[in-house]
Amino acid sequence: MARKILLVNDHIEGLANIDVYRRNGGYAAVEKALKTMTPDAVTEEVKKSGLRGRGGAGFPAGMKWSFLAKPPGVPRYLVCNADESEPGTFKDRYLMERNPHSLIEGMIVSSFALGARTSYIYIRGEYYYVLQILEKAIAEAYEVGLLGKNIMGTDFSLDLYVQPGGGAYICGEETGLIESLEGKRGNPRIKPPFPAVVGVWGCPTVVNNVETIAAVPHIVNMTGDEYAKIGIGRSTGTKLISASGHINKPGVYEIELGLPVEEFIYSDAYCGGISEGRSLKAVVAGGSSVPVLPAELILKTAAGEPRLMSYESLSDGGFATGTMLGSGGFIVYSETACMVRNLWNFSRFYHHESCGQCSPCREGTGWMEKILHNIESGHGKVTDLDLLVDICKKIEGNTICPLGDAAAWPVASHIRHFREEFEYHINNPEKVKDPRHCEKQPFVRKAQSNPA
Ligand code: SF4
Repeated sequence: MARKILLVNDHIEGLANIDVYRRNGGYAAVEKALKTMTPDAVTEEVKKSGLRGRGGAGFPAGMKWSFLAKPPGVPRYLVCNADESEPGTFKDRYLMERNPHSLIEGMIVSSFALGARTSYIYIRGEYYYVLQILEKAIAEAYEVGLLGKNIMGTDFSLDLYVQPGGGAYICGEETGLIESLEGKRGNPRIKPPFPAVVGVWGCPTVVNNVETIAAVPHIVNMTGDEYAKIGIGRSTGTKLISASGHINKPGVYEIELGLPVEEFIYSDAYCGGISEGRSLKAVVAGGSSVPVLPAELILKTAAGEPRLMSYESLSDGGFATGTMLGSGGFIVYSETACMVRNLWNFSRFYHHESCGQCSPCREGTGWMEKILHNIESGHGKVTDLDLLVDICKKIEGNTICPLGDAAAWPVASHIRHFREEFEYHINNPEKVKDPRHCEKQPFVRKAQSNPA
């Protein structure tokens, strides 16, 4: 039986109501932390747990908290990044929709640990109905004294606000988010200074993802040492995965880190195999920005070891033969998928979402989109592929924020692993003009069949 932590009560009807949440153990971590622990002791438990940021970067959460500057007399802030915009990722929405109090409880405990007296949940503007669910839950928490002054009769007070996002992918980057939260255009800031020193309103700030913060009460309840026993190696705990694409059972799954990728794709407990009995062609394992892998490399590493759902195993082999766990946006492609059209689609997104501050990102994303449109529509040239790779190299590492890398990695990896498919498009312009050409005549690169 798979271990569940974040979704352990997911089957309970009406969990978004505070009474139901409390009847099922909710807010026990607030009581434990505020009444029996010091802020540093809570941070210590999070450090011991090995919890890593679940938004994509995978940076150890406890270490990030310990970087927070604490100048006397200066307020500190905790900001929850709920601006979930990475294509293929919808797990934070699921968690907030069904169990908003788990996030609020995480905000209270984490704010206590960080010494924040005002905290924010910055939520994607398109999730307006989820914002309403959160606001209702926050009002319930104020009503029973779990937010506001002297929570549970202690010295700790906290005000929590929900702020709708500015409608841009780049507002999910922590400094772009902070700019937007302050009421400005969400342009990412040059780092340093990092938000831990200069964040919201110029004050020290920690920005954590929804799933990261929601894990904190569980760590406090079970202790960091116990949490660290779950998972594999430095990939401790569980992870929410949003599974989509050509699979029989798309949805949000909580997995124990270390689960074999093959089991995740083919087991009925998770994705249930490839739809219509087709073969697996490729997977984007962590949201659209991470490198795509062909079937043979997502199921096994280049060394022939089973690939696991963990930070280390997915990145085994670097970008040559590996990828990243990222945000856990797991997109599966069957043999009928057109990888050229898929990449053009991704590129359109990144071009549209570039804020335009840096030339390599602003110009490069547009240039790549144009070339890919030409190739996809049967107007490409053989030299376009090397040109695309060259543009990627010029963007990667040369921009203010990671959107530049996020735009370059899919392009470089699609060409690395599916070059012959791009060449087919270039050399067969008449055939690929039919938008369903891949369904009618799949471009099969000896993808693996579904295991029996
Ligand atoms: Fe803006 Fe792109 Fe530069 Fe990020 S990399 S700051 S999105 S132009």
